[in-house]
Amino acid sequence: MKQLSIIYSRLPVWLQDLAVTAQGALYYRQRYGAAFRDEHALLKATELATPLQLELLQVARVRKMLFHASQHVPYYQSRIPKSSWERLRAGDWSSFYELPITEKASLRLDSESFLDQTSSRSRWIEWNTSGTTGSPLNLYYEPEAVSRQYAYVERYREQAGVSRFERRAQFTGKMIVSGDHSSRYWRYDWANRALLLSSVHLNPSTIPQYLKALREFQPAYLSGYPSAIALLARHALRFPQQRLPIKSILTSAETLLPEQREAMEAAFGAKVYDQYGQTEMQSFWSECRYRRMHAHPLFGVTEILRPDGSHCLPGETGDVVLTGLLNRAMPLLRYRIGDRASWSDEDRCPCGRRMPIVERIDGRREDYLYTTQRGWVGRMDPALKGVNGILECQFVQEELHRIRVLLVPTADFSDRDRSILTNNLKDRLGSKIQLDFEIIAQIPRGPGGKFRAVVSRISDPSFEQQEMEEFA
Ligand SMILES: [Zn+2]
Repeated sequence: MKQLSIIYSRLPVWLQDLAVTAQGALYYRQRYGAAFRDEHALLKATELATPLQLELLQVARVRKMLFHASQHVPYYQSRIPKSSWERLRAGDWSSFYELPITEKASLRLDSESFLDQTSSRSRWIEWNTSGTTGSPLNLYYEPEAVSRQYAYVERYREQAGVSRFERRAQFTGKMIVSGDHSSRYWRYDWANRALLLSSVHLNPSTIPQYLKALREFQPAYLSGYPSAIALLARHALRFPQQRLPIKSILTSAETLLPEQREAMEAAFGAKVYDQYGQTEMQSFWSECRYRRMHAHPLFGVTEILRPDGSHCLPGETGDVVLTGLLNRAMPLLRYRIGDRASWSDEDRCPCGRRMPIVERIDGRREDYLYTTQRGWVGRMDPALKGVNGILECQFVQEELHRIRVLLVPTADFSDRDRSILTNNLKDRLGSKIQLDFEIIAQIPRGPGGKFRAVVSRISDPSFEQQEMEEFA
């Protein structure tokens, strides 16, 4: 794998396009086979199913997965009493909620024990996660699970008015461009009609080149990291002649902030559809055109739990615990993903779907700043209200009483903006906090090329880096 990437990095750009296209053709075959077609047909047929119908379908999948895990997966062989799945088979759903929670640390500690011991591993698709805490983790998927997963991606695209047959421009954290400088920061995947743009190289000085490439490519939709598309949008808002005609924007892999959504929708005149998933293949949540985030019950069981393990009521924030229902190679049952969220109190959506609606995703503890006056403070984007001339901003906390504010300004950024920002921040974080502003050319990206609005180094150091997968 590593050798391949060294070879790739030495190829001329046009050959890299060919390599990306060849890889894309392989992905296309993996994704859109028979299992994709079956699942896609099922999703279309059950889109407007009642909650009871959806629950029956979900229970059937849970039962199968539990039986499989209890028979073939060492970690669960000892942890699922036979009585549990037998009670579930008899229709007693409560036995599922009595299963112990699987913590991320257990998976990190002994990932081998989570693998199906009976299936042929040569068929599996392997995925290496980077993670910030050192030890990389290998995840394994059945090819059919990947294929089924893409049925959800395709329905998500279709709800946004596009499909896999249309041109897409995707902002990716994958290292498709090596080094800091290149003649261009994008590559073509002709097998998937996709322009892949490096989010890592996107900065104020390269933005015009990216916009030119997008205008030439004429994508039907944009997809990928919201931070990258929002950065482009803020630039496009300042130079309206550089806008793009596109149908929709599909964001994933990072927390989407309200301000980012606003900028993208204003700049491109297209609706943003956000999606939430993770490399562990545990859930698929996606927004409909009414901006409700639906948690798809056939992809996984979503629970939101209080500290005592009981279920949160609508509007109450708790830990997200997921049970993936697609991937039998590496089943994870009641897996605490590390994100926090709350349920909506709406039980039906104007779109007609009756799947549960997630109201808010609060992200991880490390997305929060901590001050002695205010405690944990998340969502720093409201502090930018009324402040002009900022392309990007990041808050870095390394000490309890001091926060570094990294700013990428435009030419319009003034002393007045700086003082408005200071006041907003003191309102939010308390007056005693020391704020050090640093003007820089580009905000450094984290693992996988992801943007983080907050970098906290004072939270629990054992906290795992959460990885989410980029789709669409
Ligand atoms: Zn809806």
